[in-house]
Amino acid sequence: MKRSFIRQILESIDKDTISFAGGLPDEDLFPMKDLQCAAKKAFKDKKNLQYILSNGIKPLREKTAKFYNDEGFETDIDNLLITTGSQQAMYIIANYFAKKDIVVENPSYLGAINILKSNGLNMKGVPLEYDGIDIAKFKKEYKKTKLAYLIPDFQNPKSSFYSKDKRKKVANIVKQNGGYIIEDAPYSQLYFKKGEKSISSLIPNNSLHLGSFSKTLAPSFRLGWIRANKEIIKELTMIKETIDLHTNGISQYILNEYLEDESRYFDHIKVLRKEYEKKMEYFAKCLDKYLPQFIYEKPKGGMFIYGKLPNKDTKKLVYEALENKIVYVPGGEFYIDDGGVEEIRFNYSHSSKEEIKEGLKRLAKIL
Ligand code: PMP
Repeated sequence: MKRSFIRQILESIDKDTISFAGGLPDEDLFPMKDLQCAAKKAFKDKKNLQYILSNGIKPLREKTAKFYNDEGFETDIDNLLITTGSQQAMYIIANYFAKKDIVVENPSYLGAINILKSNGLNMKGVPLEYDGIDIAKFKKEYKKTKLAYLIPDFQNPKSSFYSKDKRKKVANIVKQNGGYIIEDAPYSQLYFKKGEKSISSLIPNNSLHLGSFSKTLAPSFRLGWIRANKEIIKELTMIKETIDLHTNGISQYILNEYLEDESRYFDHIKVLRKEYEKKMEYFAKCLDKYLPQFIYEKPKGGMFIYGKLPNKDTKKLVYEALENKIVYVPGGEFYIDDGGVEEIRFNYSHSSKEEIKEGLKRLAKIL
């Protein structure tokens, strides 16, 4: 397994280093007052500190189900399993499908790649474009695996966003061949302009849709979920029980209190969309000014700008960058083969404007 470069970097950088490495939300945007208030309420009832149901507290599953139903994706609380972040969701699913062959986008999310590897799944990489996966190659591989892991909304690392056409085509390929897609969607709410429907909504019985409150609220709650057909949810719940019995209860009660006022949550997400778009635009402006040789496409949402520095080995470069107190993730980290040597993933959601400008200036100087 490749130890996550990002996690390694997070351990080693000092406070003077400007980091575009981690996929961190902007903590200045955490709704602190409202969450403090929710926590106070949640701690009032001693029952909230008791063991809870394995699949999560009912009111939180009801609210999560409502998010789906409001989007026209029919979902019952028994279609849902609350997990310790979508990271654990991925682990449970990989355990369920252990040792199978699976199609993955290449590049893909390193955290998921490592989970799939550690559960003995055999990955078949299919190239990813900015508008989604290469459909012809996907079709060829999916016919054999009948299982795929995809991140259609503002992918990590590439920020790709699947076009409507590619979503339909993927869904049709699954319909024709049977099997399942695992649709990982932690960034789906962070769009700059309302996007497309999930692929899972087109194939509700042949999909495992993963959601998370990490990017829309705060990662330290460690709250995510799986939406899938009821039979699979039952099987996954049994695996979940072997890991930790249930997801942190008090965390769920606090979040549930916060979500009692649904419009407040959606107003908060609107703020995130606006602020992250501004940051992305600023990052892009600075890239064009200080690193004009960097080839990229502006993302339509999410947290990352991904692109290429022609004729540069970005992994070699990152050590020089670190000495100059600036860090990013080299693209090669996200490939299951030896691709991505000249590529870079920049996170734009966490740094201030000053840091963005200064960080890119430092990088330009090294180049
Ligand atoms: N999937 C993807 C694509 C991610 O980028 C991340 C976080 N970096 C996760 C899953 C895990 O998120 P969490 O466990 O915080 O919900």
